[in-house]
Amino acid sequence: MADINHKNEELNYKNDFSEMFVKLIDTMVDYEHFSREALVDALCRLARSFRLTKVVTEFYKSMMDEKDGEGETLCDFNEGPADIVVLKKELISKTGAIVRATAYAAKGTEPLSREEEQQLDICIRAMMSYIGRNRLQTAVENLAYHDNNGYPNFAYFFRHLGKMSKTGEFFGFTAIMYNLKDFSDINRNIGFEGGNEVMKTHYETIRDMIGERGAVCRVGGDNFAAIFPNELLERIIAFLKGAEIIFDQGTKGSVSVSACAGIFTVPGDFVYERPGNIVEMIQPACQAAKVSDETDFVYASMKSLEDKEHAARVRRDYEEALKNSEFQAYYQPKVNVETGKITGAEALCRWIRDGKMIPPMEFIPILERSTDIFRLDFYMLDFVCRNIRKWLDEGKRVVRISINFSRKHLTDPKLLDNIVAIINRYDVPYEYIEIELTETTTEGDYHKLKKLVEGLKEIGIHTSIDDFGIGYSSLNLLKDLPWNVMKIDRSLLPTALTDEKDLSTVLYKHITAMACDMGLECLTEGVETVEQVQILRDNSCEYAQGYYFDRPLPLEEFEKRLEAGEYPV
Ligand code: C2E
Ligand code: CA
Ligand code: CA
Repeated sequence: MADINHKNEELNYKNDFSEMFVKLIDTMVDYEHFSREALVDALCRLARSFRLTKVVTEFYKSMMDEKDGEGETLCDFNEGPADIVVLKKELISKTGAIVRATAYAAKGTEPLSREEEQQLDICIRAMMSYIGRNRLQTAVENLAYHDNNGYPNFAYFFRHLGKMSKTGEFFGFTAIMYNLKDFSDINRNIGFEGGNEVMKTHYETIRDMIGERGAVCRVGGDNFAAIFPNELLERIIAFLKGAEIIFDQGTKGSVSVSACAGIFTVPGDFVYERPGNIVEMIQPACQAAKVSDETDFVYASMKSLEDKEHAARVRRDYEEALKNSEFQAYYQPKVNVETGKITGAEALCRWIRDGKMIPPMEFIPILERSTDIFRLDFYMLDFVCRNIRKWLDEGKRVVRISINFSRKHLTDPKLLDNIVAIINRYDVPYEYIEIELTETTTEGDYHKLKKLVEGLKEIGIHTSIDDFGIGYSSLNLLKDLPWNVMKIDRSLLPTALTDEKDLSTVLYKHITAMACDMGLECLTEGVETVEQVQILRDNSCEYAQGYYFDRPLPLEEFEKRLEAGEYPV
């Protein structure tokens, strides 16, 4: 009977062990609901069943770390005197990481049976391999998501955005990318170590501000990116506008750190597909903030993204459009206000794509950001010369046509030669060509502009100073360069016949008088009403261009107007 009892007890005990062991393994592999408490609880139950008093595990990433004593020691089970070492095991991973476990019992405790020893061995091994893998994973993660200086990196930020997209929404959050201003000066002034200290303190401050509710990472160098709830924005901007940061606790030496930032407050209708969607908003805004003279904080919006996409589309389609001759010149007549006679026309570019007309303001400013505009202006000159050649060959009346050349063109040293070569290709007399140029901003440009206008003058090609009165009018530019025509911008033309003392009337009167005195032909743009035609007549402006007479016209319609030759006045 006693024997049977004993057997039953042993059976129960075995079942107990298997049950405890299964529980331990379950808690280890259930990644989704992993709970440290559950794991410790399972380990403690096992340790008690083996009459242990203490279990210690150690983890070293490498043998070097072990030698230097740089590892992690865990001791979650400690319930009595650790007099005897019951078991000591060491496991070395393929990467050279070391996991060590030591189990202790109190003096006088009943020793483990052979079977118990085997069971404890299995448990400890399972636990060690778990710890090894787990710790290594953390170490790998630390490496992957942190840079060499221990700052969370871009991958960390991306992972955080990925997590946000799974758990909820971006609405209610603001993302920023920022650059610490003049950090190289800081490094120079207080030394590299001081600089490192400043950056670390800066990072830790903003990290603590954001806390669990967002993430901040170092993108590289002195660039950071962060995301946080909208309500923190004001505080964070105040901090980035300038904060005293102590770099030497002893002397209390400090520097002021400020930043320029691109800011994107995520709107309700934002479509998130990947972390890049957020970065695409804040990165260009940060870049814009860096180069801006006016502001350190640039707010990105969906509109700015659309603009960017539009610009990318224009640049992409441009080559093909040139090849397929999708660009055309529309002609807007220039009219003598006394006689109504058409004395010339301005060629204005139109892009006809898939039957739709794209106005120049939607693509010219984009092409002007690079040298792409060069080819368009030459294309337009070519187009116009071809038309003039046709009119001449057909024996039609020909008037002088003006072509716009972008200010960007001044950087092209062959500009004059190229202009002449195109005109000569069609054997067009120079008197029929006028080049419209706008004012310049820089000293260097001024000299190039002067050379070009003088060069054109010398061979008899007309030049006009376009958009006069807006931008950067300089009287020197008028005085020193041999222009033929002054084109007064429409913003300077009074809208109606008003009191003679009205400021805009006075200004207009003096500008037209000045053009006249300087021997320039004077033309006003944007003439829309009969009153405005009268204003031109009342002042010293001989020529008008504007919707009152005609909008820019396609070739055939312009030819009809030329044939008629004049407007009723
Ligand atoms: P712009 O050289 O000042 O050309 C005059 C603009 O005023 C034209 O706009 C014309 O359609 C418009 N306009 C003419 N009369 C009136 C009027 O009575 N009222 C109003 N409100 N507007 C009037 P458009 O054709 O849209 O051209 C806009 C600008 O695009 C031009 O301004 C010029 O800077 C640029 N552009 C056009 N074609 C070319 C080109 O072939 N090369 C270059 N570089 N720029 C061009
Ligand atoms: Ca123009
Ligand atoms: Ca103009």
